[in-house]
Amino acid sequence: MTQTSRTDWHARAASLQADGRAFIAGQRVASASGETFAKHSPIDGRLLGAIARGQAADIAAAVASARAAFDDGRWSARPPAARKKVLLRFADAILAARDELALLETLDMGKPIQYALTVDVPAAARCIAWYAEAIDKVYDEIAPTGPNALALIQREAMGVVGAIVPWNYPMIMAAWKLGPALAAGNSVVLKPSEKSPLTALRLAELALAAGLPEGVLNVVPGYGHEAGEALALHMEVDAVGFTGSTRVGRKMLEYAGRSNLKRVYNELGGKSAFIVFPDFDDIARAAKTVAGAMFFNQGESCNAPSRVLVHESIADQFVELVAAQAPRYQPGDPLDVSTVMGAIVDETQLKTVLGYIESGTSEGARAIVGGRQARSDSGGFYVEPTVFDGATNQMKIAREEIFGPVMSVLRFKDEADAVAQANASAYGLQASVWSSHIDRAHRVARALKAGTVHVNQYDEDDITVPFGGYKQSGNGRDKSLHAFDKYTELKTTWLRINAG
Ligand code: NAD
Repeated sequence: MTQTSRTDWHARAASLQADGRAFIAGQRVASASGETFAKHSPIDGRLLGAIARGQAADIAAAVASARAAFDDGRWSARPPAARKKVLLRFADAILAARDELALLETLDMGKPIQYALTVDVPAAARCIAWYAEAIDKVYDEIAPTGPNALALIQREAMGVVGAIVPWNYPMIMAAWKLGPALAAGNSVVLKPSEKSPLTALRLAELALAAGLPEGVLNVVPGYGHEAGEALALHMEVDAVGFTGSTRVGRKMLEYAGRSNLKRVYNELGGKSAFIVFPDFDDIARAAKTVAGAMFFNQGESCNAPSRVLVHESIADQFVELVAAQAPRYQPGDPLDVSTVMGAIVDETQLKTVLGYIESGTSEGARAIVGGRQARSDSGGFYVEPTVFDGATNQMKIAREEIFGPVMSVLRFKDEADAVAQANASAYGLQASVWSSHIDRAHRVARALKAGTVHVNQYDEDDITVPFGGYKQSGNGRDKSLHAFDKYTELKTTWLRINAG
């Protein structure tokens, strides 16, 4: 029996005291107005605590603290190897606090404790450690100019970075911003989602204890239209790394236009296509994979393969295989270590998901499994894994991001039709092609307008590869060395050389 399965998560949850105060200039503080909002858990409605309702004054204080820290060089001027040391300690501290962070994440946004423990915490720590390890190994450039000059092309930290993140993977999304931004020497003001602020606040405390100087990382919880807007409009913020909906991503660009033209990097929504050709030799594996990827995290994943395109000759068989997977994903108590699907983040999102299910049925698709709310007597918000057959690209369920455990199966006639349907989307985050024909797999992968294309799998992921989308799925890339592009400016310095 593992330590994890022996832990009584209910008992630990019952005695949990969540601290919802902001973290500014190295300290926990109440909001300037003294206002708070109540945070309830989606797993059973229990009250988790009072969260500081950050507004413009709190953002101003956080940005001032970040700016002062940046300008006096307490972090930005340290050698990369010194920043590396601190960030590695921070990553270790995340791992050491695994149980506490995982419990906060599960209670805050409803995901099963087993995944908070085995996916979210280690991925956040690995991300911080990876950028720490990278920062003293990346070199700048010298341009191939003529003999009388030397042109140095150097990366410089941007200054103050605003990070605005969503609730679906609160810690991982924060780490994707913090890793490269902090390693590069920036100061950061992080605005977590009002639906999941608890782990971000705790991360800031752990970073301070690991040696990150005061003011370098500030966390201001609050609502998007208050704290988020104030951060994105602030004249002293040099760049915003935003992950969230396409709707709010548009606003980020407006805020930049209305303020200081700060750099805006948007990581937005998706409606990823999963294309299965009849020449693939193991469609049972494809069905199992699509169910796993779709229902993981309650379907609340930006890259969930929510549009499944299947060749008409195998569609009936494929739909049956996917439906047979559904029982494995029935929602359960997120604090039970055997649960694989947890709660939807809140009542608003629950209603959105149920509204989409209703629209699928009324537009003529057929829910072959699921379609209903579950575990209502728990006091939390749960939805059955749902598979729609007979969907078309014209239906709302196939066009719009649902962000819940709802899959739509569409049919195609031939390769050209598959590519056309897959690309007929405002989004372009990810896609997947399943074929045993190497030419076809490459041809289709090339034709798909998506930031990541998977071939004959959907599970591979690593901090070493960029993550981001084409079209309205955003710009910029999280993860990999490419993320440094977002949080650094390129400076060219010309020197004249007297060649003698
Ligand atoms: P959201 O856009 O509602 O909120 C994201 C963040 O923006 C939150 O912190 C929120 O408080 C803030 N915000 C909301 N309104 C704001 C405003 N007017 N001004 C400033 N800030 C504001 O998104 P969400 O519901 O939290 O998250 C789900 C979305 O995130 C989905 O669309 C999903 O696809 C996307 N997502 C994308 C990626 C990616 O890497 N591409 C990863 C995870 C999630």
